[in-house]
Amino acid sequence: MAEQYDLIVIGAGPGGYLSAAKAAGKGMKIALVEAGELGGTCLNRGCIPTKTIMHSTELFQEMKNCGQIGIHVGALSCSMDEVQARKETVLEQLRQGIAMQLKKAKVTVYHGKGQITGPHAVEVNGETLAAERILITTGSVPAMPPIPGIDLPGVMNSDELLAKGDPIPERLVIIGGGVIGMEFASIYQALGTQVTVIEALDRILATLDKEIGQSLKMLMKKRGVDIHTGAKVERIERTECLQVTCTEKEKALTVEADAVLVAVGRRAFTEGLLGPGVELAMDRGKICVDEHFQTSVPGIYAAGDCIGGIQLAHVASAEAINAVCYMNGEGPEQDLAVVPSCVYTNPEIASVGLSAEEAKAAGRTVLTSKYPMSANGKSLLSGQERGFIKVVADPETHQVLGAQMMCARATDMISEFGTAIRNGLTLEQMGAVIRPHPTFSEGISEAVML
Ligand code: NAD
Repeated sequence: MAEQYDLIVIGAGPGGYLSAAKAAGKGMKIALVEAGELGGTCLNRGCIPTKTIMHSTELFQEMKNCGQIGIHVGALSCSMDEVQARKETVLEQLRQGIAMQLKKAKVTVYHGKGQITGPHAVEVNGETLAAERILITTGSVPAMPPIPGIDLPGVMNSDELLAKGDPIPERLVIIGGGVIGMEFASIYQALGTQVTVIEALDRILATLDKEIGQSLKMLMKKRGVDIHTGAKVERIERTECLQVTCTEKEKALTVEADAVLVAVGRRAFTEGLLGPGVELAMDRGKICVDEHFQTSVPGIYAAGDCIGGIQLAHVASAEAINAVCYMNGEGPEQDLAVVPSCVYTNPEIASVGLSAEEAKAAGRTVLTSKYPMSANGKSLLSGQERGFIKVVADPETHQVLGAQMMCARATDMISEFGTAIRNGLTLEQMGAVIRPHPTFSEGISEAVML
């Protein structure tokens, strides 16, 4: 007889493993099915490996300039093999942490590809599991656009470029100036690679406040990164090296490269998920869900990148946790209206809530304030004085509506604004908080001051 569960979760990324543990904590009997490693894209091919490598490359770059702060070192070198080995150690430790968390929560983990064979049945490794409900958290994979030459050797997506053991390319062309494109541009520029970014839209990081994209473009250009915006990639060819041809302002431009990174977005991953006769309503590859994350088949839920929307690890976790709440007849635990978004470039970028630009497009009058971090003591003493904090508030009530930051520790500090927006705090209420001196966070006190 099939093993019977209350819930089978398919996919152990940040959406799957956290919601599985949460559901088990609510007393449900849980099975978690994973075809690859625990942790999904975030831990194995995304957030954690990139930020681990970035930690090394940023330190490497800082050390190149440490003579400016009185530290003199001999010849510096960066061994990618050792950086990669350390990355593997970090990933393995975190995977073990997840395995322990699941074991403690009494979640049964099945290692294998799960296929939904009925509204209450999942097949894995030839075994059929039965459950009252199923939650799909199968994530996303890099999208590869139909550009001629995209299949040539040396043209890679972010999964492949991150893979262990690849030599550092001398010249790298990055197609797409979004989050992945700019984070990889930061990593490879620090390693001494000649990086060229080709972005189709008229600016990089187009989903964020305009000033952020403009400032990052200027900074990256100063560091030698060549950035082409409003440029359409026509083809990729290979002779002695790779050649990427694009059209920029109606002129053809060919850039030579040893490697090409394609970072033009990610698409929902559902391949092989549905067995014969099982159908779910889909929209351009994404699984359609209602406001309770239930699919077109009652009892089958989906959350995270596989349903589209905002493709961020913390959003996947929040959606999947809310889905578990809904299946238990409870209200949502997580507020999906206030979502912070971070880019791990140098300096860091973070944003939450409304930007002045979005307010203007919506015909809404807002109060804005901007504080340059060049006036912040901690920023200056640590040589990280570039950047700013911008705050958007209601002009009548002074309620905080949004914040955009480009400065050191922006990705940590943004949570102060998330908390303020979520709880309807005003500029004055944020300003009444004493922040320690000297810290980067004093910039927040200054930015909220009228
Ligand atoms: P993205 O949507 O952020 O950026 C893709 C960029 O490629 C866009 O600016 C788009 O205009 C451009 N583009 C599309 N087709 C093009 C073409 N043919 N030629 C040139 N440019 C083209 O996607 P991404 O950077 O691939 O990231 C995928 C997802 O992963 C995003 O949702 C992102 O937020 C998420 N992610 C988040 C983080 C983070 O939170 N720090 C890090 C990495 C990825």
